[in-house]
Amino acid sequence: MPNFDWDLVVVGGGAAGYFCAIQAAEAKPGLRIAILEKSPKTLGKVKISGGGRCNVTNAEERNKVFLEAYPRGQAFLKKGFQQFGPKQTRAWFESAGMPLKAEADGRMFPQENRSEAVLRLFDGKIQSLSIQVLCKHSLERLEVLETGFSLQVLAEGEPRCWLSRQVVLAMGGIHKESVWEPLQTLGLARISSVPSLFTFQIPDARLHALSGLSLPQSRVWLQGDKRRFDGPVLFTHWGLSGPSILKASAHLARELAELNYNFAIRVNFLGAEAHESKAWETMASHATAHADKQMKNAVPLGLPQRFFLFSLEMLGFDPESRWRDFGASKQRKWADWMLNASFQCQGKTTFKEEFVTAGGLDLNEINEHCGLRRYPGLWAIGELLDIDGVTGGYNFQAAWTTAWLAAQGIAAFAKPD
Ligand SMILES: Cc1cc2nc3c(=O)[nH]c(=O)nc-3n(C[C@H](O)[C@H](O)[C@H](O)COP(=O)(O)OP(=O)(O)OC[C@H]3O[C@@H](n4cnc5c(N)ncnc54)[C@H](O)[C@@H]3O)c2cc1C
Repeated sequence: MPNFDWDLVVVGGGAAGYFCAIQAAEAKPGLRIAILEKSPKTLGKVKISGGGRCNVTNAEERNKVFLEAYPRGQAFLKKGFQQFGPKQTRAWFESAGMPLKAEADGRMFPQENRSEAVLRLFDGKIQSLSIQVLCKHSLERLEVLETGFSLQVLAEGEPRCWLSRQVVLAMGGIHKESVWEPLQTLGLARISSVPSLFTFQIPDARLHALSGLSLPQSRVWLQGDKRRFDGPVLFTHWGLSGPSILKASAHLARELAELNYNFAIRVNFLGAEAHESKAWETMASHATAHADKQMKNAVPLGLPQRFFLFSLEMLGFDPESRWRDFGASKQRKWADWMLNASFQCQGKTTFKEEFVTAGGLDLNEINEHCGLRRYPGLWAIGELLDIDGVTGGYNFQAAWTTAWLAAQGIAAFAKPD
C-alpha cells in the first residue's frame, strides 16, 4: 500500500469541485482533502455568474419541467435529483446560512443578491473542514496505480508528484483541448465539445433597429426541424436573443455547429397558442374597425408600434396607407409572416458572457455516483461531464447534484475509521 499524500484530491476549484470537497468532508470527517486550482483564484465563474449575483438554482417545482432544461444528461440527472435535487440544494444553502430568493421567472439568487454570499459560505466551510486549497496548481497528468492515483502537478511552476487514495475530476467544460490533456492516458470515451447558450447573429439593419425590444410570447424553431422553443424573444443590435433563442441554441447546439452557424430560423411572434385563422380574423375585424386610420396609427394585437412597422417593412407594405386598403390577401400575408417569419442567421454571439460546453466525458463511463466504472476511486463531476442545461440556474444545479453524488460515493469508498 503506497504512502498517500492525500485521501482525496479534487482537481478544479470551481462550483462542482468546492461543493464536492465540502460534502465529502462532511460525509466522512477526517479525510485529508486538497483542491487543486490551476488559476490564481478559485470559484472564478461563481463570482461573475448571473451578472455577479450567482443564479444558484431554479425554483421550478415540476420535476419533469426542470429536467426538460437539460438537452444533455437528462436521464442521469433524473436519478440524481431523487437523491439531491433542487429541493435539497435549496435546503442545504438555507441551512448553511445563505437564504435564497426566487425571481418571477424562477431564477434563484442569494438573498443578498451578490455572488460573494456563495464565496463567503464556501470559504468558511473550507476553513472549518480543514480542506487545503492550492491555487496555481495544475494537474498535468494522472496515472492509475494498483491502489490509488499518482498526480503530476505543476505547483506554482515547479513539477511535483502526489499520491492520492481518491481523485475527483472537476475541471469544467472542455472548451480547450488542454482541459482534457491530463486525462489522455486514461483512454476515457468523450463526446466532442461544441458551444451552447449563444444568441443568433442576423445581418439585417432593419432588425437591428429594434434593439432592446422584446416580445414576451414567441416560438422559435430551426427550419425543417420538429422541435419548438417557447419564451420571450429579444431584438439586439446584432440579431435575436432572449430565453426562446437561448433554449434553441442549447437544444440545437450540435446541429447548429454542424451548419457552421449558418441557418434559417423561423419565428412565430404571436406565441404557441396562436393560430392562423384566429390571427386572420383579428386582423379582419381590426381593419374594419379602423378603416379610415393610417395603419401606423392603429397597431393591432397590442403589438409594440416599432415592431408592427418593422413587420410591414419586411413585407413591403406601406405604413402610411389606410386600413381599408389592407384587404384579405394582405391580411393573410401579414398573419402568415407573424406566425412563420424566416431569418437567415450567420454566426453566434455570447449571451452576457455566459456559455457552457455541450459534450464532455461520456456518461457511459460513470456509475450512478459519478464514479468512473473502470477506475474505482476516480470520480468526475460538473461541466466536465456530457451534461449541460439552459440558462436559469440549471448548470449550477447539475454541478451541485453531481458533486453531492460523488461525495457520497467517496465517503463509502474511503476506508472505515
Ligand atoms: C459568465 C458566466 C456566467 C454563468 N452564470 C451562470 C449562472 O448564473 N447560473 C448557472 O447555473 N450557470 C451559470 N454559468 C455556467 C456555470 O458557471 C458552469 O456550468 C459551472 O461553473 C460549472 O462548474 P464546474 O465546477 O464544473 O466548472 P468550472 O466552474 O469551470 O470550474 C473548473 C475549474 O477547474 C480548473 N481547472 C481546469 N483544468 C485544471 C487542471 N488541469 N488543474 C487544476 N485546475 C484545473 C479551472 O481553472 C476552473 O477553475 C455561467 C457561465 C459563465 C461563463
